[in-house]
Amino acid sequence: MDIINKMSGPGRYLIGEEEKQEILDVLDTGHLFRFGGESDPQYKHKVVSFEDELKAHLGSEHCLALTGGSVGLLTSLAALGIGPGDDVIVPGYTFVASISAIIWARAVPILAEIDESLTIDPDDIEKKITDRTKAIMPVHMLGNPCDMDRIMSIARKHNLHVVEDCAQALGASYRGRKVGTIGDMGAYSLNHMKVISAGDGGAITTNDYDLYHRAFGVHDQGHLPSRYGEEIGKRGIIGLNLRMNELTGAVALAQVRKLDYILSTLRRNKKLLKDMISDILGIGFRRINDEEECATLLTIMFDDKKIADKFASKIGSGNMYDSGWHVYNHMEQILNKKMPTNVGCPFECKEHGKDVEYAPHMLPQTDDILSRSVSISIGVVDKGLGSAFGINLLSDEAEIEAVAATIRKAMQEL
Ligand SMILES: *Cc1c(COP(=O)(O)O)cnc(C)c1O
Repeated sequence: MDIINKMSGPGRYLIGEEEKQEILDVLDTGHLFRFGGESDPQYKHKVVSFEDELKAHLGSEHCLALTGGSVGLLTSLAALGIGPGDDVIVPGYTFVASISAIIWARAVPILAEIDESLTIDPDDIEKKITDRTKAIMPVHMLGNPCDMDRIMSIARKHNLHVVEDCAQALGASYRGRKVGTIGDMGAYSLNHMKVISAGDGGAITTNDYDLYHRAFGVHDQGHLPSRYGEEIGKRGIIGLNLRMNELTGAVALAQVRKLDYILSTLRRNKKLLKDMISDILGIGFRRINDEEECATLLTIMFDDKKIADKFASKIGSGNMYDSGWHVYNHMEQILNKKMPTNVGCPFECKEHGKDVEYAPHMLPQTDDILSRSVSISIGVVDKGLGSAFGINLLSDEAEIEAVAATIRKAMQEL
């Protein structure tokens, strides 16, 4: 099976016997629902085991598995009581899900600039805080933790909630703590492109039991966390069904057990490649806020867009501004505010005095930084992130050297 050239995150490269065994374990009994009797031998509690192991890995008090990262963000916002009349500050460089989750919570996304770490710029967060601001959603983009010390101190000063979007950064640490455990809640994704994968799926974490309790209800029609049938009459919240099933849980469980191996491999490979090219004149790198990041990509930053473009075309790639759908400029459904219905549309926001507008080039600092940046894949091979060129989780040292040589040659020809 040739998986070397497939576009995906690192976890997908390790789908194998362990995942098969966990799946067969579930299929052998046919019990595919996440709930079951503790003494029932047919019930293999894969989702609960996944939650327990992820929680242990992250050092979080509570973990809840869900059908995806987008609904993890939505569930977190709902658990925190964020909704109509509230603003949430989010970077304009992210996957559209961060922004659409805020909109589906019926709150208003306020787009902020990124800095040279390619994560939200704390200075711009401060500029965008108003009386309406209820929360900040830092996104740990491309595996790199945000500047959480500054973000948390801003949040404390202004009494704001913090929902960490960790969809691209599962397992990354910031000053000794795993991302997702620093703010009020953290959301993770298990889709095809992420650090570990179950095809789709997600999880949220929090250290606050009340938030966990509310989040559980949001994801399971208001039921209480244990759900053994005795809670009829005690459902305190209107929820939906965002539950993970046992087949997804089985794969997620096998994958979470590979997370440490994936992270150490990516960090080693990234260091090897970076060391091979860092002497090249004219090459700079994006700021990394903690070396215990996920190391899924290596981003090269140039002083100017023309050089970035020339370099990118020589390696068959593009600058990150043009790379696709992670830049607000390319989110036509957001720019055009295409909600499926106008009922309760959050943009028609009378408290703002006028409707909120999203315009191309409204974040000039973000546009500038991204147009001077080119990403090389270390573990996430994804044209949509601008990282179609590079190495993957299975690359050996010869392949890493070949990529370094291509980069050196491209720089010499500029
Ligand atoms: C992938 C991603 C999400 C959404 O996760 P899904 O599991 O696809 O719903 C949210 N935010 C960011 C930054 C992402 O990259």
